[in-house]
Amino acid sequence: MISHVFRSLFENNPDGVVLWDLDGNIEDINDAALAMGTLPKEQMLGRSFRDFVVPEEATRNEESFRRAIAGETLFYTTRVRTSAGMLLELSVTIVPVHRGSEITGAFCILRNETERIKTAGLVLAQQRALVESERRFRSLYDNNANAVLIVDRDGIIRDANAATYTIGGRPREEVIGQHFVSPGDEQKYARLWGFFERALQGEPVSFDTTSTSFSGKTIDLEAMIVPQFSDGSVNGAFIVLQDVTSRKAAEARAEQQAARIRDLYFIATSGDYSDTRMHATLQMGVRVFGMDAGAIVDCTESRLAMEVRYDRSASGTVADEALMETARAVAASEEIVQTKRGFGTRLFVGGALYGALVFASARDASHAADETDRDLLALMAALLGGALERRRTRARLRTLAYFDALTGLPNRVFFQERVRDALAEAAQTGKLVAVLFFDLDRFKDINDTLGHALGDRLLQQVAERLVEIGGSAGTVARMGGDEFIMLLSNCDNVETVRATAEALLQAVDDPYHLDDYEQFITTSIGIAVFPADGRDDQTLIKNADIAMYRAKDRGRNGYYFYNAALEAPILTRLSQEKQLRQALEREQFVVHYQPIVDLADGTLVGVEALVRWNHPERGLLYPDQFIPSAEASGLIVPLGEWVFETAAANVRALRERFGPFRLAVNLSARQFHQRDLQDRIAGAVGRAGLDANDVEIEITESVAMSDASAAIQTVRELKRSGAKIAVDDFGTGHSSLSYLRRFDVDIIKIDRSFIAGIGLERNDETIVKTLIAMGHSLGLVVVAEGVETRAQYDFLRAHGCDRVQGFYISAGLEPKALEALLASRRGSLVKRG
Ligand code: C2E
Ligand code: CA
Ligand code: CA
Repeated sequence: MISHVFRSLFENNPDGVVLWDLDGNIEDINDAALAMGTLPKEQMLGRSFRDFVVPEEATRNEESFRRAIAGETLFYTTRVRTSAGMLLELSVTIVPVHRGSEITGAFCILRNETERIKTAGLVLAQQRALVESERRFRSLYDNNANAVLIVDRDGIIRDANAATYTIGGRPREEVIGQHFVSPGDEQKYARLWGFFERALQGEPVSFDTTSTSFSGKTIDLEAMIVPQFSDGSVNGAFIVLQDVTSRKAAEARAEQQAARIRDLYFIATSGDYSDTRMHATLQMGVRVFGMDAGAIVDCTESRLAMEVRYDRSASGTVADEALMETARAVAASEEIVQTKRGFGTRLFVGGALYGALVFASARDASHAADETDRDLLALMAALLGGALERRRTRARLRTLAYFDALTGLPNRVFFQERVRDALAEAAQTGKLVAVLFFDLDRFKDINDTLGHALGDRLLQQVAERLVEIGGSAGTVARMGGDEFIMLLSNCDNVETVRATAEALLQAVDDPYHLDDYEQFITTSIGIAVFPADGRDDQTLIKNADIAMYRAKDRGRNGYYFYNAALEAPILTRLSQEKQLRQALEREQFVVHYQPIVDLADGTLVGVEALVRWNHPERGLLYPDQFIPSAEASGLIVPLGEWVFETAAANVRALRERFGPFRLAVNLSARQFHQRDLQDRIAGAVGRAGLDANDVEIEITESVAMSDASAAIQTVRELKRSGAKIAVDDFGTGHSSLSYLRRFDVDIIKIDRSFIAGIGLERNDETIVKTLIAMGHSLGLVVVAEGVETRAQYDFLRAHGCDRVQGFYISAGLEPKALEALLASRRGSLVKRG
């Protein structure tokens, strides 16, 4: 029974109220509800709610109704269609009707929201979003990894989420009701309260602070105070605390890592592979890995040998054995090895296993190597491998460079050095220095009849005899073939020289015993004497050579003193220069264009202009066949200008038809050092109608290095015009990082020799990776040159290189071929697969 009070509430309610029985049929309905439709009360009674709800909402209403008569109160909105067919949006509150302990039906309070929803659809959407964001906020709040405090205007914590415990060090229950700044630290209080007051003005603030975790660790926090508005005024604030300890640490690590790479790069490019440098590398490893000692251990023999060693403290707290132990483990493993006390990896030199790079600690190492440590170790090993190899090669080269393999005599280079020394000394003493040039008579015939093996032995025996006679007074060297040369220093007069020459002729003339053969040979000797016949080593050698020919002319087996009056002026290499000049006039040069593509999507970003000489007789000549002499003669300047103008005009025309791409041109040292370079380039760019921004100028490291301060100035001027600067053949010179930075270049082109090592040489791979990382750390665009294979391409892409150039994409193209390529260009130039 509906009580009296309730009855009047029912009838006069401004909201529609409907009473349903357990089947969902209308038992009663008030006027407001009737007003929503058109039917009179009699016709409405007994109807089911199912007659009105729209089909899409049927299930939902069914479900709500079922829950209501099971005892729940629900609130929702739904759409109904009146008997007159009108569509209404209703908000519904459905409440179970209890009679005693039984439920006999349900009340519905209906509010017609149609108009409101129509006119304020937007508001509703916003409200929904709000509800949604509130829901999100809730879950954000509860599950947030950040601590979130709800604080009133007085700074008292009214609520806090679970993360408060891990971040703030105090459980939620304990902080609620407390002031948000823990008592004690006046200074901290003042600072934080300052921020809080600003937030109370309505402005969110953020700042860094710290707290102490429940385990006593200091936690770095990033704090944010967000004002909490209610009815337009701030009634408190949210304080969000984010634990940034690990992020800070990661940032510090990343910065440290970048610094290490820079250190290593210095070592890699310093061009100095001395023990000191290796020490420096080991020292860095010791510091970075937190070890006490580092060493390079040679494992090529069965017995390990300590090659270079560095200790953190002078007393050397780590026993050899600890290092050796690690080295042994390393040598046996292909992986990086980490033991309790050691850390190390194998070291390869020239592709072959050389030994181990190891670090060891006196106590158990607290340091567990992570990914970056491993990378760094690998990089160090690569660089040290390179250094050791270069050291080894240098030693080998030194022998090769100074000694003749067949006779063991010094060679020409060594000889020249000795002559220079002797001349310097003679200039002091006033004594004579003689250069004797030997050429064996008819050696070729003997060699042909005896065979090379015996010919070689004959040469060795001649060498021995020459040394026997002239060795104590000077130096004997082999010039190559059957030519020898001798230096006699400290001669008092020409007669001593003459006597020696005669003794030498005699000695050579004696019979030689080669196996069972007795063999005879003679020599012709040309002699030049300092100071009369020349004042420097080269002139003396050249004149002794000329004199030797005179001796041959005179019938061999004799000696001849140089006589200046008899010699014709020497021919110059003017002819090549003349040819080049003519070629330029006759327009025999052509420019080819090699595409440079973006590694990310394979699209063309530019072309490099490469000059070729279309020689009338010799065919197409490549730069290495003529650039050196063009450089030497200075003709490179007009040639380079011609290339630039031609390429700029070509590119301009193609850009008009095919859209933008850049032009890269090579600049030679001579051009680079021209005083009016910038104007010339700006002029050429302007004449071609090209934008300087689309031009990249390639200079080599050595060009840039030649005269640092002037070069920096030149680069600045070039850049001012808008052109980009690329450092070509990067990695082959020894420009240091700080140097590049001062230079303010835009692009580095990793030399193709490193690219060639990808997939073959671990060292090269590591260096390529480093160069890319380093280039990027300086904000440079990194281009890889000479990419010939898919594998190289994939490697470069995997390591984030920006652009590639090479035969894998395309060789240099004639203008026509470039045009065809551009015409057919659809996206990527890179082959698939
Ligand atoms: P560079 O500047 O390093 O030019 C790249 C050279 O590498 C070109 O040789 C090119 O044909 C070659 N190359 C390109 N892709 C590959 C590849 O995948 N594998 C291999 N093995 N080689 C590749 P090129 O045309 O013989 O030029 C040689 C050098 O001559 C150039 O080296 C550059 O230093 C110089 N040069 C070329 N044109 C000019 C010019 O107009 N002016 C000046 N001053 N120097 C030029
Ligand atoms: Ca180049
Ligand atoms: Ca290059």
